[in-house]
Parts: sequence; structure tokens; C-alpha cells
Amino acid sequence: MQDSAIAKPQATRKVPRATNNPLPRANDTDTLALEILEKLTYSLGKTTSVARMHDWMDATCLAVRDRIIDHWIASTQKVTKEHSKRVCYLSMEFLIGRLLRDAINNLGLSEPVKQALARYGVDLDLVELLEPDAALGNGGLGRLAACFMESMASTEVPAFGYGIRYVHGFFRQEIADGAQVELPEDWLAHGNPWEFERRETAYEIGFGGKVTMVEEPGRPPRYVWRPAERVLAVAFDTPIVGWRGKHVNTLRLWSAQALDPILLDAFNSGDHIGALLESNRAEAITRVLYPADSHQAGQELRLRQEFFFSSASLQDIVRRHLQTYDSLDNLADKVAIQLNDTHPAVSVAELMRLLVDIHGIEWDKAWEITQATFSYTNHTLLPEALETWPIHLFERLLPRQMQIIYAINADLIRHARLDKGLDDGQISAVSLIDENNGRRVRMGQLAFAGSHAVNGVSALHTELMKETVFRDLHRLYPERIENKTNGVTPRRWLFECNPDLCKLIEEAIGPGFRDNIELLAELDKFADDASFRDKFAAVKLANKQRLAKVVEERLATYVDPKAIFDIQVKRIHEYKRQFLNIIETVALYDQIRSSPHLDWTPRVKVFAGKAAPSYQEAKQIIHLINDVARVINADPAVRNLLKVVFIPNYNVSLAEIIMPAADVSEQISTAGLEASGTGNMKFALNGALTIGTLDGANVEMLEHIGADNIFIFGLTAEEVANARANGHMGQPVIERQPLLRAALESIENGVFSENDPGRYRSLAGSLRDRDWWMIAADFQEYWNTQRRLDELWLDRAKWNTMAVHNTARMGWFSSDRSIGEYARDIWKAGPKSIQAIS
Ligand SMILES: *Cc1c(COP(=O)(O)O)cnc(C)c1O
Repeated sequence: MQDSAIAKPQATRKVPRATNNPLPRANDTDTLALEILEKLTYSLGKTTSVARMHDWMDATCLAVRDRIIDHWIASTQKVTKEHSKRVCYLSMEFLIGRLLRDAINNLGLSEPVKQALARYGVDLDLVELLEPDAALGNGGLGRLAACFMESMASTEVPAFGYGIRYVHGFFRQEIADGAQVELPEDWLAHGNPWEFERRETAYEIGFGGKVTMVEEPGRPPRYVWRPAERVLAVAFDTPIVGWRGKHVNTLRLWSAQALDPILLDAFNSGDHIGALLESNRAEAITRVLYPADSHQAGQELRLRQEFFFSSASLQDIVRRHLQTYDSLDNLADKVAIQLNDTHPAVSVAELMRLLVDIHGIEWDKAWEITQATFSYTNHTLLPEALETWPIHLFERLLPRQMQIIYAINADLIRHARLDKGLDDGQISAVSLIDENNGRRVRMGQLAFAGSHAVNGVSALHTELMKETVFRDLHRLYPERIENKTNGVTPRRWLFECNPDLCKLIEEAIGPGFRDNIELLAELDKFADDASFRDKFAAVKLANKQRLAKVVEERLATYVDPKAIFDIQVKRIHEYKRQFLNIIETVALYDQIRSSPHLDWTPRVKVFAGKAAPSYQEAKQIIHLINDVARVINADPAVRNLLKVVFIPNYNVSLAEIIMPAADVSEQISTAGLEASGTGNMKFALNGALTIGTLDGANVEMLEHIGADNIFIFGLTAEEVANARANGHMGQPVIERQPLLRAALESIENGVFSENDPGRYRSLAGSLRDRDWWMIAADFQEYWNTQRRLDELWLDRAKWNTMAVHNTARMGWFSSDRSIGEYARDIWKAGPKSIQAIS
């Protein structure tokens, strides 16, 4: 600088000392009304007279967001000051849904925001509907990650969620002529008021290239990876506010960008397309969510996505650690990294690379740190869902990580053979490399080997894990597998989606349940109180009316809110057995037609859910449901005794309307195949009666709710395994069951697909054949159990008593309880009060 005098005044000038933070903002209606107006004016550039509803939505989000930021700053400062251990939850999916109501509810702002908007003649309920439903996930696994983020904030466990900022989330589903049509989803089209782009928080992610060994005098040789290709991972942060605003955590999603957005040389020489190729290739990594649930995607782009977000997250974790501590030796004391399924399992190799190659830590020490830092949640036992990658692909894309996996594997096998005496068969089962299927890397084995704790998501699933996928690894490390039964956040899945029920609960037992959901148990004593029961039923009826209105609007179909609402909503999958449900529907239709004079209990069968676009059988099941619905709903013979509706585009927002409106919850998976389920929990919490198999968390729901208040049927997991092993076939069973036989015949003879009579021949044929999903095997008991529900409906007092017991006894299935167990047993993080849960 030429003249130092210019700089001088700055040094001496008395600047009023800025306080660390602006004061927390006031939460009264006047202040909120003013601030919403300010956001509208100065952030959006609109006046009240031209503002569209969308602008009001943005302005409201921004005003609410300011309040979250106050708590966010306070939370971050507290965690930093106390050097608290942080949980990093790595998940390829976060099925978040809308955030405005969640934030308003958790901050206790429902009334003031509602009234503030009312001053401008704006209805908060309508504003909320305009927020896009953030669907960065497929189903249960992604929704679990979202519930866990909310619960970690609510229980004050310091946490970062790490994932991918997909430009296009889970596809939008439409039904055309009965069949699923997939349309692109565009949640970012109007911007995202919740996120903060952190351009300064960006990391280079490498792919391909070569590994060389570098020897320098006086130092041990080290490996250097020179990737052929690099992309930038840029952080986008969303604050996640917990109950009563006590704590705010960060959801950090990575977006891919090219290092050079445009290759100027190419551009200048006239190659305008070529100049953008690199940026297109980079951005493709975070462009779209793979829509496959419980099925491995298998393409190279998917492996790129997995490594991209794993590497970015680990680089971030390591950098942040070194900002506070001068060594990585204590990494595991300050960070717990949870791998949500195997999608981020490459993290095990990548952390080893960072520790050994970049930070010069000796191999054994690095391995100790790695194992102490990671833990892994398994979500499925389905063989088709277990991730493996061809060695040649892995090696080409991630050459150094491949070497590291070989080295980990060599140690593992040495230990297994020499210390534990495993034979060749057992060795090949624990190996990180599958030698039998064209040599593949097994991500489950890698995640297991690199973690100090491996958990299943329900008691049954955890036991089956020990006997199946990880049988031999479990024998090698018998202490490693433990159970952490899933849960759902009661804020979204009770308080927000069912406010009338909460009001009623509060009148009965006081407000304590809002802070400790297990206090719902006090409702039990009202189950036999006729007046309470009637009010409980009145709330249910109102919620059914709300759903009936949605059905009317979207499908132009009338459903009678006084009928049983029998609901199955979830991903469409053979193991979830929507097919069993629709066959029972057809059988019921036949019975009503042949005995119209009988006293049938009116039912509405509700279905919703998406099929993976390449999953033909699942798409056929959707088609069948819609075909059956068309025929039954148009048949005057059934009058209004039976209706069938398929509501398109199942997502979190639709679930929030559906769960409170159910009388019957269908949880009818083939036993042994649903790892936990969380839909089952949302329904029962809202007072639906479950008809279900002894599968996943249904088993524990039975224990908590009691056998008198839940409808369990069907083969057990063990019986399914035996039947399969003994070559079970459907045909002999079908021959013995006239109801099933007739229903199946009408489906395969084209009764519901007259213009394409053969449409369902192969679907029906699969039942006659191996009946892999035990649909024929379980049909009769399912039918009988449904008729018991019909009968119970006639004794409404008894039904309602059971419904109250369900709500009262579901408190344990809160994700706060799940998070408490992870914090105590696996992470050793979070407030002492949380870790001390019994
Ligand atoms: C809860 C939930 C799921 C999981 O449902 P399951 O019945 O457990 O498979 C899937 N999708 C959405 C939108 C959900 O809210």
C-alpha cells in the first residue's frame, strides 16, 4: 500500500464493540408479523399487494429460519466450548419431507406465526402446502435418517448428518391407465430457503489415476494417489432444530462441481460443448437419487456417488478435528461415525488412506482409530440388496482404496486362520472379496470389519443377521453385533400430523408427554372410559374425513369415512406383499357379490407406494391394484361395502395425512424379510390396529401393545425358512383353498384386465409355483384374521379401547429412545442424561 496513513485510522478508530451475536429475536405475533413483512420486502423484493402465496411461504421460512439460527449459533458455541464428542451420521438418503411445520412446532411458534400471517389475510395451512417435499431418499432407510436427525437435535446429541444434495430427489409418481409413470422431481426449482451454501467448505474428490510409492531418505515409504480426475464437493448446510429449540444440529449435504466450470481453452477455440463437458460430468454425480430400495443399483455412477460423499465427509471431519486438536490420535474420542447401511462403507478404506497416506499414521494405529470411530447399521438381509462391486471397476475408480481393502483383508484372514482356526469355507465367507462371482468387493464385510459395533434395526432382524449374512464374521467377533430397534419422531408423527389427538391426550393426562413420550402410557387407564373413547373415535373420524377429501380431490372417488380404513402404504415390493392384500380384496369382492344379503362390514382399502422403475413385478402389482380398484369401484353390486383406492405419489407429506386416518395398518411382509419397518410404528402411535406378521419390529410391538390389541397371523421367520428349504409349492395349497383359488383365477383370466387378459398370468403363476413370498401359504390365516377385524368393528367400544391401548403403549418406539441407546452403547456421546437411559 502506497500511503500507510490510509490504513491508520482503521487501527485507532473507536468502533463500537460488536456483541458476539445479535440478541435472540422475539417470538410474539407483532414481531413476527413485522419480520415476515421485512423478509417479503427486502429479501424477496415484493409488496403485500403483489406477493403470491409462494412469496409468503419463502418470507415465513426466512423469518422462522432466523430464530433457528439464534439457537444454531448457541448450540455450536456450546459444543465447541465443551469439546463435546460429535456424532457424524453418514447416509446416502435423508427423506426429510417439509420442514416449515417441523421448525415452527419445535420452536413453539405455531400460534404467533399463524396469527402474524392472518394479519395479511394469509392462511398458514395453505402456505405450508407450498413447500416442496424434500425427498432425498427412497423409503424407510432415508426416513429413519431424517427421524434420527430430529431426535438427535431434540435429545441434544451434537451431530452432523452427512449426505448428498441431489438436484432431483425421488421421482414423482403418476398413474396412467392403471400403470406407474415416473416423472422427474424438481424440489430446488424455486430455491431452498433452508440451506446455506458454504463455498469455503469444499474438498477435492479424486477418481481413477495411479498409485505410486514414494521413498524419501529417512522416512518410511508411502503411497501417493494421483487421481486422473477431480471434482469439487461443496457443502450446503441445513439447520435441524430439536424440540423446544433446545439444540440445533447441521445436515451437511454435498454438491458436486467441476474444478474448472468451463474449459476456457476449449471454449476459445470454438468447442463450446466440449468446454462444458467436464462440468457436466462432475455435476452428474449429485444430479439424481437412485430410485432403488432394497436393491443394489450396480452402476459406476452409484459407486462414484458413494465415494464422493464419503470422502467429502471424512475430509471435513478430519479437517474440523485438526482445527481443535493437534493430532488425530484422539479422533475416536471426539467423533463417532455411523454408517447408515453399506452405502458409505468405502469410508473405512478412505479414512485409512487419510490417516496413513496423508497424515503419516502407522498402519496398525490407523486401523485402531478407524475401528473405534466407525459403527455400521445393517438394514436388510435380502441377497439382492447386499452391495458388492466388481474388482475391476473398484480398482479403476479407486485404486488406492482397493489396495487398502486388500491389506485390511489380509490382516482379517490372517487373524481368522491363525488366531481363530477358521477353515477355508469360513475364510471365504468372512473375506472382503467374494471369489465366487467374478471377484467382487463386499461392502457389508468391509463395513463390519471397519467398525467396533454393528447393529440390526429390530430384535428379530439382529438375531437373523447373526445366523445369516454375518454368521461367520459373528463367530469371529461375537461381541460386535447388537440390536438398536428403530423408532420414529413423535414430533412429526404425532404432534404435527395429529394435533387434535394431542389436544385430547393433553386434556386427559396433561402436557408431560410432549417432553417425555413414554408418559403416553398414562392414557392406558382411559381406554375403558367411554366418554374418552368416544372423543378418541371422533378425532379418528375427523382425520378420516380429511383423508377422504384428499382421495376425492386426487382420484375423484368417494370413500365413506364411516367404513373401516384399511391401509397399506410403503414401497411396493414382493416381500411387503401388497399382492397378498389385493388378492384378499378380490376374494372379499367375490364373497360380497355371491352373498350380497350378508351383513358385510364396509371397508376402504387404501394403497400407496412407488415401485423401482426397473422392478417389473412391483410395477405389475401397482397395475393390478389399480385394475382391481377400477372394476370394484364401478360395480353397483358392492354398493359402498368395498372401495379400493391407490393414491399416487406416496411421500412424507402424504404419509402425514394417511397415518392419523387409519383404522387398520397392514404390516404383512413375509416373516424374516422386513428388517424393522417404521410405518408400522407411525400407524399404531396414531391409534390404528395392526394386522401383521411376526416380522421386524412387529414382534416388539406385540410385546409392548399386548397380544389382545394387535392382529398377528402367518408363518414365522423360522417356518418360512423351513418351508423354502423343503421345496414349498403354492399349487397344492391353492387347490385346498376355494377362496384363494377363485380369486387367483379371476386375476389370471383377465376379469380385471379385459383388454389384456393375460396381463397377470405370470404374476399369478408365481404363486402356483414356488410361492417364494409365502402368499398362498399365508392366505387363509390372513383372510380369517381380516374377518375377525370385521367382527370387532361391530363392537365399536371394544375396537376403540384397543385403539387407545395402541397409542398409549407406543411411546417406546420413539426415535428418542433409539438415539438414547446408540448414544449410550455405541457412540458414547451426548448428554449424560441421555447416555444414562435404562
Ligand atoms: C415411514 C415411511 C416409509 C417406511 O415405511 P415402511 O412401512 O416401514 O416400509 C416409507 N416412506 C415414507 C414416505 C414414510 O414416511
